Amino acid sequence: MALIELNKRQEEILRIVKVDGPITGEQIAEQLSLTRATLRPDLAILTMAGLVDARPRVGYYYSGKSTKTVLVEQMSKVLVGDVDSLPIVVHEKNSAYDAVVTMFTEDVGTLFVVSEGGILEGCISRKDLLKVTMGGMDVRNIPVDMVMTRMPNIVMTTQDEPVLQAAQKLILHQVDALPVVKPTADGNQWEVVGRFTKTNITKFLVDLVQA
Ligand code: ADP
Repeated sequence: MALIELNKRQEEILRIVKVDGPITGEQIAEQLSLTRATLRPDLAILTMAGLVDARPRVGYYYSGKSTKTVLVEQMSKVLVGDVDSLPIVVHEKNSAYDAVVTMFTEDVGTLFVVSEGGILEGCISRKDLLKVTMGGMDVRNIPVDMVMTRMPNIVMTTQDEPVLQAAQKLILHQVDALPVVKPTADGNQWEVVGRFTKTNITKFLVDLVQA
């Protein structure tokens, strides 16, 4: 299966560019008996997907790259800081009940647990909270720091990490979200500045093919 799904017209344009490139938009339009304006969005997609390159006064030519190469390039070039979300956090002394409420109101599946100053102490997922309820404990009296996965076992990312690398961490460690962190001034702790999730990757992929 192609990684970037091209429609029939885009396939046709790509074929023409492969055979006759460099070729102008006018000439492609002529070959397909279409207007230049009709072709413009398709040419834009092929160019943005990296399959076709364009040079002023020369025209369009085939980049020679496969869709896989292009995808790997994009995922390595785009950084976590370009696609991440705002972090949703709870304080370590909040209760498991507070965490459940925050998950509902913020509509997220993972919360980052912080101490004063937004310092990362742990992560809490849906399953962690389900476990507490199954244990029959009173969620209002259990602090989240008794339920969370704690530092130093948290898998993290930074704003300048390529999306591909961060995505590989999600797969390798079988988690849904990574806290995006930056070191504190003394360099001993991590401050939470963002949230990188499977949803960010899905959005990134959709944006890539719809650009
Ligand atoms: P769930 O299974 O609840 O849908 P996850 O698969 O993300 O969500 O979480 C599985 C376990 O991994 C939970 O115990 C959670 O505390 C822990 N966890 C979640 N995110 C991270 C992370 N970034 N680093 C380390 N552990 C994490």
